[in-house]
Amino acid sequence: MVSTWLSATLYDIAARYDHDRHALLQMLRAVQAARSCVPEEAIQFFARHLNVPIVEVRGCVEFYSFLHATPRGQYDIYFSDSPTDRMAGSLVAAERLAARLGVEFGVPRPDGRVTLGLTSCTGHCEQAPAGLVNRRVFTRMTEDRVDRMADLIERGVPVEQWPEVWFHVENSIRVSGPTLETHVTPGDALRASLVRGLPQTLDEVEASGLQGRGGAGFPVGRKWRGAYETRGIHYITCNADEGEPGTFKDRILLAGYADELFEGMTIAGLIVGAEKGYLYMRGEYEYMLSGLQEVLASRREAGLLGEDVCGSGQNFDIIIHLGAGAYVCGEQSALLESLEGRRGIPRIRPPSAVKKGLFGQSTVNNNVESFVQAAQIALMGGAWFADLGEEKSRGTKLLSVAGDCTRPGIYELPLGVTVRELLERCGGSHAKAVQVGGAAGRTVGRAEFERHISYADLATGGSIMVFDERRDMVDLARQFAHFFAHESCGFCTPCRVGTQMLQHYADKLASCQGSRHDLAQIRSIGQMVKGYAHCGLGETAPNALLDTLERFPEEYEAHLLPEADFVPDFDLDAAVSEARALTGRDDRLHQLEHGKVEAES
Ligand code: SF4
Repeated sequence: MVSTWLSATLYDIAARYDHDRHALLQMLRAVQAARSCVPEEAIQFFARHLNVPIVEVRGCVEFYSFLHATPRGQYDIYFSDSPTDRMAGSLVAAERLAARLGVEFGVPRPDGRVTLGLTSCTGHCEQAPAGLVNRRVFTRMTEDRVDRMADLIERGVPVEQWPEVWFHVENSIRVSGPTLETHVTPGDALRASLVRGLPQTLDEVEASGLQGRGGAGFPVGRKWRGAYETRGIHYITCNADEGEPGTFKDRILLAGYADELFEGMTIAGLIVGAEKGYLYMRGEYEYMLSGLQEVLASRREAGLLGEDVCGSGQNFDIIIHLGAGAYVCGEQSALLESLEGRRGIPRIRPPSAVKKGLFGQSTVNNNVESFVQAAQIALMGGAWFADLGEEKSRGTKLLSVAGDCTRPGIYELPLGVTVRELLERCGGSHAKAVQVGGAAGRTVGRAEFERHISYADLATGGSIMVFDERRDMVDLARQFAHFFAHESCGFCTPCRVGTQMLQHYADKLASCQGSRHDLAQIRSIGQMVKGYAHCGLGETAPNALLDTLERFPEEYEAHLLPEADFVPDFDLDAAVSEARALTGRDDRLHQLEHGKVEAES
């Protein structure tokens, strides 16, 4: 039974989103923020009010990491847990805070004061240890800050009164290139597109050679052309989910280049004939929401959004939706599902999103960097962009560099730059390995540092993690295996089961309990998951394990039990020991190993 008071509050939340079923995730986020959980009453209310099956509403609450069916603590804290965060001490800091507060990870303290947990990378790796407290980002957590944080929590001091410096986020730009140096005056790229002609602007985007900056590299112009030639209603969606561990370059663009981003989305909208665009931004970046809303408001005020955009005779506006902690929503079709207010389960393809995307209509989906660069191309022309980079990878790329280097941060460099050049620039020349492309990317060792960061060789959405001699590659691969086992959406068996099995074998090896048989299992299961998974998450989930096995075999050898070709995963003797003790049959003959020996002798 829903109380009158709660019912009114929930109704207000639904009204804020026009009672639109597709905004269900946004409504659930609002309830979570107001009540520190999504109670059963709210699930029932939205099911009835929006005419959505209750299992769908409940499924959403269970699917997204930042939604909870039971209350979190008054202080809800997550430490960012990517490998580079750990290298900077995030786990140590989180454990110290847990000890100071007497709280178990993931379990609210009995007095309801605090909950503490780990979450996948929050996108602030160059300022690690970082995390979230009551949805606010904190950075550079030190031992002293942890101790003071514990004290503030015990004294019940509101987060708003904590030292502001703890929440300071730097922009961390180390090397700027044409993208970061070209600020488009609001409306200039739009006007240039309209003067040139929208079809001609599409030609320019195609001529630029711009490829999707999320990492997959599909030509942006070709995608826009596909939508332009598709009849019917169109939508523009921007992927600002940026969940790949080690990636934080969209954060920089969202903070400092929002006008360029919205201008790129608007130009795409006018070209393909869309009237609405959605920016899907990861929940961890909520602190940027009000600033982005202000930019949208000023663009509406200036006639750059809304009716008759820039005198074009066309309407276009942009809505921002927030994610709620699900890495898989970075996958295009999962993102569309999430935008429709459902769990982020990747769709079956074909059809492509260009043919049948958001709400079943033709949709252009690109990421933040792609739209920013598209706006700049609309202003400067395709040749300006195509002159940079290399033949099959045009332009520059923003790289987020973190880990064992003296100058972590954002590097805008022409595509085709070698790993070695990048390492020299960021102070990571002593590296023994680099992870290009995050958890889903590729691990390369010193012998491959002449390889190029480009779509033709080592593709990346932006993540570059640097590891030096101190790092245990087996343990790093284990961390990535855990990440995928946690983030698998569970839709298809190869990924759901395979990532769990890979996690198991990685744990066994990292704890020096493995054998050669386990290495063979990882290779075989890894290939199976890559070959049969339904979406890109599963296809890339085994990469780190397989790459490190191939490139750092000596480190795996050092983790094996001596002379062991096979170590059983299940200790049958230990499993039946309690039953033996209860029945008093604990003699040597009933010890499986010894019994076998005695029976044979
Ligand atoms: S591969 Fe993994 S993430 Fe993708 S649909 Fe299958 S279970 Fe979900």
